[in-house]
Amino acid sequence: MRDDLDFSYESRPVRVVFRAGAALSATPGEADRLGLRRVLVVCGTRGAHTARAVADALGPRCVGVHDRARMHVPAEVADAAVRAARAAGADGCVAVGGGSSIGLGKAVALRTGLPLIAVPSTYSGSEMTPVWGLTEHGGKRTGRDARVQPRSVVYDPELTLSLPVPLSVTSGVNALAHAVEALYAPDTSPLVQLMAEDGVRALARALPEVAGEPTSLGARGRALYGAWLCGSCLGATTMGLHHKLCHVLGGTFDLPHAETHTVVLPYALAHNAPAARDAADAVARALGAADAPTALWELAGRLGAPRSLAELGLREADLAVAAAQTAGQAYANPRPVTADGVLALLRAAHEGLPPTAVAR
Ligand code: NAD
Repeated sequence: MRDDLDFSYESRPVRVVFRAGAALSATPGEADRLGLRRVLVVCGTRGAHTARAVADALGPRCVGVHDRARMHVPAEVADAAVRAARAAGADGCVAVGGGSSIGLGKAVALRTGLPLIAVPSTYSGSEMTPVWGLTEHGGKRTGRDARVQPRSVVYDPELTLSLPVPLSVTSGVNALAHAVEALYAPDTSPLVQLMAEDGVRALARALPEVAGEPTSLGARGRALYGAWLCGSCLGATTMGLHHKLCHVLGGTFDLPHAETHTVVLPYALAHNAPAARDAADAVARALGAADAPTALWELAGRLGAPRSLAELGLREADLAVAAAQTAGQAYANPRPVTADGVLALLRAAHEGLPPTAVAR
């Protein structure tokens, strides 16, 4: 514990229920606690089967299932969901699925003020944040608004049993990125640091177990527990270079969300580590390793995840544009962000070099 404590921490009124089978056994009770009698269930097409099971469990409290969620919440998809909620006379929304489904639920909450219950099926962590995103005219807008923070989150490891191993791995590293950036965020705090370190520890242990035995409920539970902690860290702090860079790579170059986080994280941490020693040490401690960026890179490699931006389809000619865009925005980061610094980081990530190649 440091002697020079100086922090603010705001907790939000979120109820979390965590238990195998909770999607069906706990969601109806969560709706009752919030006084909801006419909820609309939102989900993606691939997750519609699970969402319908949740809708059946909700029984007469459910007024419909809207299965149109898409990645990055296109504005017309949000409009259609808002219309469906209004047409059904919904008094609340239940989002079942990954970050895309929860993102759609947040869009409905933002526009209508309806309370949201989240039943996550990936490790994205969106359910623990007041951050919303909408894609329009080829660009993604994001913002923070207390109305979109789910009022209740139902974690059910059984829902994640069907998550394919490659997606489990990249989604898990996406969660790790939330914890890593929370450790050096300007608004970090002792509680966030505890959650971040334990989140990294839990996921780093669980992901190899999930990859080895995807149907292990124990491993799935440990991974989801880590995702909860990492998502809580994201909700409580301001994002830095890593998230901004992934945002540019996803928004401008259409790279896939979780895979991009997985490739970039070791390089972003290697870049920031000289200016964020305590954070890098905490990550290393949680990983049981000497060098945190190298350990993250090796973990992704061992689990068969993509390790270069070239593999994800980014062209070398795009690197300078991405670097300029990322350096051109204003945000807090422990190390000053310059176009040259980001370009060096991106070059190493593009080739998939060991993260020690990033200038310290
Ligand atoms: P996703 O929700 O798009 O899911 C990825 C794919 O996995 C989809 O095809 C989905 O149908 C499938 N899937 C989900 N759960 C499954 C399961 N249990 N079994 C089988 N298939 C399953 O992806 P994601 O990585 O969860 O979320 C990414 C989105 O969330 C991005 O738009 C990102 O910007 C957003 N996000 C937002 C926040 C926030 O705080 N606002 C945080 C993290 C991510």
